[in-house]
Amino acid sequence: VPCHGETIVGGGKAVFEKVRIIPRGPAATAKSLYSKRVHRDMRSPPFTLAVKDNIATTTSLLATTCASPILKTYTSPIEATIVAQLRKRGGVVVGKTNLDEFGMGSHSTHSFFGPVAQGPFSAGGSSGGSAVAVSQGDAEIALGTDTGGSVRLPASYTGVVGYKPSYGMISRYGVIPYANSLDTVGFLSRSVQGIHRLVVGGGLWAVHDAKDPTSLSTTARRRCASVREGYSHKSAQKGHLLEGITFGLPLEYNIAELDGSIRHAWADAAKKLQALGGGVRVVPVSLPSTRHALSAYYVIAPAEASSNLAKYDGVRYGTQSPPPPPTTTGSDDVLYSAVRGQGFGPEVKRRILLGSYTLSSEAIDNYFLQAQKVRRLVRRDFDRVFRLSNPLLGGSEEEEAFDLSDLPEEIPMENKFGPTEVDFLLCPTAPTLAPRLGDVLDDGEEEGKKVVDAYVNDVFTVPASLAGLPAISIPVPVQQITGNTGGDAGSAGLQLIGQYWDDARLLSVAAAVM
Ligand code: GLN
Repeated sequence: VPCHGETIVGGGKAVFEKVRIIPRGPAATAKSLYSKRVHRDMRSPPFTLAVKDNIATTTSLLATTCASPILKTYTSPIEATIVAQLRKRGGVVVGKTNLDEFGMGSHSTHSFFGPVAQGPFSAGGSSGGSAVAVSQGDAEIALGTDTGGSVRLPASYTGVVGYKPSYGMISRYGVIPYANSLDTVGFLSRSVQGIHRLVVGGGLWAVHDAKDPTSLSTTARRRCASVREGYSHKSAQKGHLLEGITFGLPLEYNIAELDGSIRHAWADAAKKLQALGGGVRVVPVSLPSTRHALSAYYVIAPAEASSNLAKYDGVRYGTQSPPPPPTTTGSDDVLYSAVRGQGFGPEVKRRILLGSYTLSSEAIDNYFLQAQKVRRLVRRDFDRVFRLSNPLLGGSEEEEAFDLSDLPEEIPMENKFGPTEVDFLLCPTAPTLAPRLGDVLDDGEEEGKKVVDAYVNDVFTVPASLAGLPAISIPVPVQQITGNTGGDAGSAGLQLIGQYWDDARLLSVAAAVM
């Protein structure tokens, strides 16, 4: 295992590079590392920060590898905006963390550096290294990326908090893309407050980054914020803060495969909220397109990935090791196939093949375009149940411009029921507790089944990703019902999902609920 530094935490390879251990304490120590480029706001107390290794860092000790052989020697000339922003707010980078190659996976096992582990259990993926770094106390805050659940799922398996912001809120400049229309930077911590302090208190939510074309413009941010007027919550006191809040329980998330202990924890949380009084309500809602969301995600994400990864051809990007043979055959793709054949792991190759197929002229109508329509329906489901309107919705012309008429018949269009006025949705983060690593590691046996099982873990996280909504996973203790113990953490994750740009309220409410 080619580690750059010391450190292996939690028995697995979670943090595989460390700059050096920075003692907590004097700001001067923290400052000396980086004072040349970023002037830290001295009002913010220093905190330790771990960075998922698909986010660019610039010190020579820290490569940015995406856990892929193809980038194993890559050091970035630029620093990701989010890393600079956090350093300015007191973050001291203590290491880069292990992940599934390019963020593709659900157990952090598809890594060139070997799998992440929390004891005998899966740490979840793809930001498993970041989750373990936080759960083991190596970092107070860890950055991850969440395309279809990669911050929330590991948070759920390791018993920490994982927050995926609204799409377009936090700059992705310097984050290596997986699927552009879905990728977000996410945060992991042991408490919601730590994240709230940076994102809301530290004003990260408000900053437009001109270097990221998907970063919401200042005008759009203002428009989004105005939709929230009247809903600002200044107090973080329990009871008071939750007053008048309606939580929706999406019925479609109560699937047969849901682990009994998680169903129990979910029902228990709902009961406790209801018992709070003060106008707190818990109501069932229906999001009928949910069950098509996973399939749509696994068409859209690989399609975008196959396009993104085309640039790793050994010329523009990518390591040539060993150097490919000279082009004597006259065929142009000798370099490409040698570099890509050796440079990508099996899961990444699978996604490239899948994505190239669904974008091909013979398949695009049946796969990619249908998946985009399902995505639209998923977003519409959410918009129908939330009390707040979606500030990005341009009105009815936009709805009509999108032809939904030739969708497969089994997708119901009008059967939503229940109140439309919910503030947040409350549901499990994942259908199961952390599985044993041995059960998910790709050992050549039952390969197809294990791959598909891993995809199924994302069933509750991808809907919010497809709709670009903010979502947070918070840990809840589980009682042992099934013989599974909830991994090392002894807990499962419950997810709160909010309307677009309702992040500040989502974080306050999550802090009060936790
Ligand atoms: N497990 C999902 C996938 O492999 C999500 C990954 C992510 O959010 N980066 O696509």
